[in-house]
Amino acid sequence: MDVKIALLPGDGIGPEVIESAVKVLDEVCEKSNFSLSYSTYSFGGNSYDKFGTPLTEETLQGCYNSDVILLGAVGGPKWEDLQHNLKPEAALLKLRKSLGLFANVRPAIVYPSMFGSSTLKEEVVRGIDMVIFRELTGGIYFGEPRGIDKKQGWNTMLYSEEEVERIARKAFEAARLRRRKVTSVDKANVLEVSQLWRDTVKKVHNEFPDVDLNNMYVDNAAMQLVKDPGQFDIILTSNLFGDILSDVASMITGGLGMLPSASIGEKHSLYEPVHGSAPDIANTNSANPIAAISSVAMMLSNSLGMTKGAEIVESAIERVLAEGYRTQDIALQDSTVVSTTKMTELIINNIEDIYNEQAIGVFLL
Ligand code: NAD
Repeated sequence: MDVKIALLPGDGIGPEVIESAVKVLDEVCEKSNFSLSYSTYSFGGNSYDKFGTPLTEETLQGCYNSDVILLGAVGGPKWEDLQHNLKPEAALLKLRKSLGLFANVRPAIVYPSMFGSSTLKEEVVRGIDMVIFRELTGGIYFGEPRGIDKKQGWNTMLYSEEEVERIARKAFEAARLRRRKVTSVDKANVLEVSQLWRDTVKKVHNEFPDVDLNNMYVDNAAMQLVKDPGQFDIILTSNLFGDILSDVASMITGGLGMLPSASIGEKHSLYEPVHGSAPDIANTNSANPIAAISSVAMMLSNSLGMTKGAEIVESAIERVLAEGYRTQDIALQDSTVVSTTKMTELIINNIEDIYNEQAIGVFLL
């Protein structure tokens, strides 16, 4: 039976990087006789232009009925002045909420050949391998009341015990497969909502006595991420803090164009690059497709049971980078700068080489 993938290419560079990601996915599936079918849906600004709404019922149903979702990015200056609920970014929040995608998982790993690309010193970034677990469907992005009038604007940061418990459990479970260390980030010295967060995480921790837990205030966490990022294994945090900290983490690793993410719920999962629609470079064939291709690697291992395929994609990316090929966003002085399509072709050629070298089939776990 085919695995059904819903594709939401979105706006700006979204369609370009999704095209690359799909080529890679096809390559791995062909090599391992794994059968997929795709349905493509409008989403974001392009959907607003066509249908007057950034998220149609057809797109939402398509996502509900699929096994996995692959998203590019949405938004751009063209839609910035629309009223809030018609903006592409609002559609993204609605999609996450409707599908119950409460856990956003963002690995931040530095490929050895990328040490020189970080703005931090090589000795600081060497060996970084952390995952941020950001709560995605609660907190200040969704709390009511919210509003704005001429003199004031207001939002509500609200978490229920249940919302904190389920993301905390995911983080502790993941820690068991890694270095068994969770850092929970909050602002419990000032915010009551953070006190509930801290108390609840502590309670869930009782179920995972084999995992270390430490609590950190968000201001300190931002500082520690830049000072000594190697100390982190898993960072567990709320929607707003996770949004900010994961962008800090992304720069440590060498650029937004490198980072994948997964958004996971009880029934659905969605994979997308961390970056936005980069309108400044859209349609120039210069976007870095690696974040989208790495998102496919996450999908292969987390949702399709193809761990080996995922490892091969990651190894292929590392080989291409080690050979000195870079898109313009991550280029160093001695790099060979290549386009989106060329980078994709190089990665696919390497995937093929690795399969040939290993002469293996991909295990379906
Ligand atoms: P952005 O991530 O789109 O771009 C920031 C900078 O990084 C730009 O200079 C861009 O050229 C560069 N960049 C990003 N991805 C790149 C890639 N793959 N290759 C090369 N360079 C890359 O963030 P922004 O400029 O703040 O936002 C642009 C639009 O994207 C806004 O409308 C924003 O709301 C939206 N956005 C969407 C998502 C999403 O869909 N998940 C996430 C973030 C931002």
